[in-house]
This record gives sequence, C-alpha cells and structure tokens, in this order.
Amino acid sequence: MALYRKYRPQTFEEVVGQSHVTEILTKALDNQMISHAYLFAGPKGSGKTSCARIFAKGLNCETGITSKPCNECESCRLINEGHSLDVIEIDAASNRGVDEIRELRERVKYRPAQSRYKVYIIDEAHMLTREAFNALLKTLEEPPEYVVFVLATTDPQKIPPTVLSRCQRFRFKKLTSDEVFQILENVCRSEGFSYQQEALELIAEVSDGAVRDALNLLEQISVVDEGKVSIKTARFLLNVVEDEVILDLLKTAFEDMDKAVERLAQLMESGVEAMELFRTMKSLVRRSVFKNKPWPRDVALEMFKMLESYNFIMERTEFPAVAMVALLSELRSEADLGIPKGGESVPLSQKNADKEKTAVAEKLQEPAAETKKGKKDSNQKREALTDDVEAETVKEEKESESDEQVTDAAATPVTAVGEDSSQDATGLESWIENVRSEYVPLYVVLREGKARIEGERLILSFPGLLHMYRRFMELPQVQKVLHNYGHFKVELQTEAEEKDESVLEIFKQVFPEAQIEEVKNN
Ligand SMILES: [Zn+2]
Repeated sequence: MALYRKYRPQTFEEVVGQSHVTEILTKALDNQMISHAYLFAGPKGSGKTSCARIFAKGLNCETGITSKPCNECESCRLINEGHSLDVIEIDAASNRGVDEIRELRERVKYRPAQSRYKVYIIDEAHMLTREAFNALLKTLEEPPEYVVFVLATTDPQKIPPTVLSRCQRFRFKKLTSDEVFQILENVCRSEGFSYQQEALELIAEVSDGAVRDALNLLEQISVVDEGKVSIKTARFLLNVVEDEVILDLLKTAFEDMDKAVERLAQLMESGVEAMELFRTMKSLVRRSVFKNKPWPRDVALEMFKMLESYNFIMERTEFPAVAMVALLSELRSEADLGIPKGGESVPLSQKNADKEKTAVAEKLQEPAAETKKGKKDSNQKREALTDDVEAETVKEEKESESDEQVTDAAATPVTAVGEDSSQDATGLESWIENVRSEYVPLYVVLREGKARIEGERLILSFPGLLHMYRRFMELPQVQKVLHNYGHFKVELQTEAEEKDESVLEIFKQVFPEAQIEEVKNN
C-alpha cells in the first residue's frame, strides 16, 4: 500500500497542522450540531479529504455520533476502505461532475442504506460545471435531514456565492516544512527506515506543504535506497544542487564578485536553475541555524533573514539570475557575515574589514581611523557593492554621513530625479546605483524595467506580469525608498520584445565589469 494511503490520518488527533479546523468539527460532533453542507478550502495535500472522511466516520460510527470514531466497526472500516454505500466521494475534476450530480439528485431521496447519514464528499468542487452547481444548489436548498455535503476545494473563489452561503466554511492552512518534516520522521520510525535528517528536510522543503507529495517522494527514495533515506539519493532523484556548489559560490562571492558572476553563469549554462540555487542556499543556511555550522548561528540567522527578503522577488522575477547576482552581492556586503574556512568559521568582518578599510582610506587619502561601527559597515557596504567606486563619490557620501541627521537619501542631489535628469543618463544611473545600496530587490526591478524618468514620472517597462510588478512597487519598503528620492508617479508599461534576453546579456548590463566573454567560449 502506498505510504500516503497507509499513513492517512484516521482520527482528528492524527491530523497535523489543522487544529483550528479539527477542534470545531470535534465540538460539532460531540454536541451533535451537524450542518448540511461544509466547505473545506485550502492548498492541496493539507488534509481536506482526510478530515472529510474522519468527519463521515464520526457521523456514522456504530458507537454513536462521535468525534472519536472507533475505526473498528463495520461502518468505520467500510469508510476507511472506501466501500461505504453511504459515504460517496465524487471527484469533480474527473468529468466535472455532471453525471454524478444528476445521479445524486435522484439518490439523495433515498435514506442511507446502512448508516445514520449519507455523506457526499465532493473533491475539487470548484471544477463542477454550472449545471452541476445548479443541481447541487437545488438539493442544498431543501436537504433531507440525513444528508451532509462536504465540498473540498483548492480554489473557493470559483464556487458560486449561492452555494458558498449555504456552507459552513473552514480554511485549511498550508503545512509548514517543519510540520511536513514531523510527519516524514514519524513515518520513517514506523516503517523502520534509517534516514538522514537532511534528506527529510529536503523532501519537506520541495513538497511545499503537500503531505501526499512528500510521502510519495519518501517512498521513492526508500525504494531506491532499500529501506534507507539518504540525502544523496534524495538529491539525485530531485535533481538538486549539492551544498558544496552553494558553499563554493558564496565563498567565491565573498572573495571576488566578478568571479562569482562567472561561476553563476557557468552553472546556469550547465542547466542549473537560479531558483534551485536559491532553494538550496536557503536550506543550507536554515540548517546552519540549527547546527551552528558551517556558519555560526547568529550569522546564519542574518543570512536567513536576507534570503527571506528575496523570496518575493525570486518567485516572481522574470530574471531570477539577476536577482541571484543581487543577492550574492548583498550577502557579500553584509560585513558581519562569516565564511567557512578550513572547517572553522571566520567572521567576514575580520577577514575583509582591514582590506576594505584600507581601500576606502586610500581613496579618501586620510587615516583609516573609524570609530563608529555603523559608518564603517556603511562604507564597506558601498565598497563591496561598487567594485571600482569613484573616490569623489565615496567622499561625498562620507561627508553626508558625518551629520547623523542627514540620511544617505537626502544627500542625493534632487536634480538627479528632476526634469533636468530626464536627459541626463548619468544622473539616473547614479540614482539607480544608490537604490542598490538601499534595497537591492528594487534595484533589480528598476534594472529589469529599464527605468527611465520623464518629468515627474518614473517609467518601467516589462514584458508582462504588470500586476505583479505593481504589487511589488506598492510594497511599503519600496515606497519608502522611492519617497527618499522624491515623489514619483510610477508608471508601468508592457513591452513585448526582449523577453528572451539571455542571462549573459543581463549579467553584462548589471555587471559590465565582469569577465563573461571567456566563460561563454568555454
Ligand atoms: Zn466506528
């Protein structure tokens, strides 16, 4: 028997992560307050049909209506096996339910054959046709007292309001990877699988809250591994990037950003997806939070926060590779981050601080006497981000920082965004570069959108998905950065061409200094 069937929860206590639902259903059964229609809405694999079956068992258990069905009586067993005459499961996705619902309208007139209630569980209910919904509605308007409907759906918006209003509604939440991990661990113990923790973490991460997917994966791996669940096989089957690749990439980024861009381009050309790199990086950093290695816990936490702030952009951007470059350069610029070196952790701030400080000091032609940590970090950050920064620029920013009241943003000449700058490409360039030090995701979007300024308008053009970019531009942190530079009216435009611009082309735009030509010829 497939693992996901074998370990389907049989009682409300066994349902993971949905106590807000199971508590109410438990009370309803214990107090015998039964409605005629329920809507279970939530992501796939979150336990909607399992809960519907437990509820049906609770209604029909031979021990009486109960929140704790015995799972032993004839009725419970038949429901568990899917053979009960009175618990009818309809998959609306298979033929959109037309015949079933027509039949249902006929059959609903007859009392249950063996039990108290006739329970109709309609899976993927949003897939029902309009005719099927109309037929269902007729039944819902005057339901026989022995009929209970449970509509399960991943997409409640597609259910007609007339049907919705007759249902008691429950929202199932997407399981966290920790919750999926717990389930996987329990199954491994029951099955006697020996497992590597990393393997279960990886499965939990990629299954994205869907328990069924997670258990199917676990089963595949255990078959290949003959009763073991190893990270090696998990990675092999999932075709994911090895941790070493990520460690190498980060190490390179900390040492030399140009090389890191080359390395990234090589990886992408060999078929690795940026999103996959991002996911592996997150998983590695998360593990580091628990294990205290390869990075110390506090460092890993800082890194994790930064990675989390990239979720939005990574999931939506058309150019995830560019976002990866931005992420790497931002990680690199975090002066407090450590990089693993020969097994022990060396804080990056110590490793690079002196070098960076000297570089800045040389450019400023003044003693490297920094007292305030904040200022030092700030300068390092700029130094790290702009590989060949003009001494004048640094000096200017340095001066503005000497006054604690003046923010970096205020120090930016307002003309950079005014009417004059619309003809002034360098003004816009330096403005965008400043945004880079404030909020890298916005920087990436400005680059992607080929930002230009006309009068008071900031115009961005994208190949599509304007609604997504609009939502991004409305984020509070984005608004804050924009306000720092003046009041724009942001305009988004569609731009059909250049959609399949190669990753390398974009790299070249963002990092013109990177030596990409050689990589291309490899
Ligand atoms: Zn029973």
